[in-house]
Amino acid sequence: MKKKLIVGNWKMNGSLAANASLVQALRAGMAEGTACGVALAVPAPYLAQIQSLCAGSRIDLAAQDVSQHEAGAFTGEVSAAMLRDFGVRYVLVGHSERRQFHGESDATVAAKAQRALAAGITPIVCVGETLAEREAGQTEAVVRRQLAAVIHANGRCISEVVVAYEPVWAIGTGKTASPAQAQEVHAALRSQLAAATAHAEAMLLLYGGSMNAANAAQLLAEQDIDGGLVGGASLKASDFLSIIAAA
Ligand code: PGA
Repeated sequence: MKKKLIVGNWKMNGSLAANASLVQALRAGMAEGTACGVALAVPAPYLAQIQSLCAGSRIDLAAQDVSQHEAGAFTGEVSAAMLRDFGVRYVLVGHSERRQFHGESDATVAAKAQRALAAGITPIVCVGETLAEREAGQTEAVVRRQLAAVIHANGRCISEVVVAYEPVWAIGTGKTASPAQAQEVHAALRSQLAAATAHAEAMLLLYGGSMNAANAAQLLAEQDIDGGLVGGASLKASDFLSIIAAA
């Protein structure tokens, strides 16, 4: 059995004090036998704090974004090498909030994934359709187009990425894709990956979008759902711990 991965995406939430109590509660609550991988994607200013709070624990550090550029005159950007300096293991790329509010194109997302891989950081590539796209029957075409750009830019390294399917209409809305809806898209993504790499079966495909303590077990039981990318429910230790336990 492949080890599942549960990633908390804090988005733009947190404070020094709140982070410390949340991480302490997670460390205390994670059972000895926790079988899955666990990572926290935290705002950039808190990377150093979370790195030290998680030292010696089984929680990995993740960032929420990375620059597509290597270094230089890019005010406000954070490079992959800087993330690596703080022990970052994973970085989200192409989250729908970045695509929607910061105009990130498929090509930008692919370039960010490439930068992360070159720095030895695993990109978690987010894909997902809007409600209008789903209603127009375009779900598979949209996620395939988003993933194709990343496959094209990364060649054989594609087997080193993690993919997160996050239907935009399910993010932060309390509306979760049904396990069957999510599985259908995950299977399509897996077959697209299989055409690009011999290692598609071993790759981790996460589901995200209103995953919570009540629905996690059912989603994670689907054959091609290898973990979760959890927003709102990752900010409450008891909810996040329940999701970890379900994995
Ligand atoms: P949500 O967010 O769990 O709050 O829906 C998920 C995400 O955006 O990664």
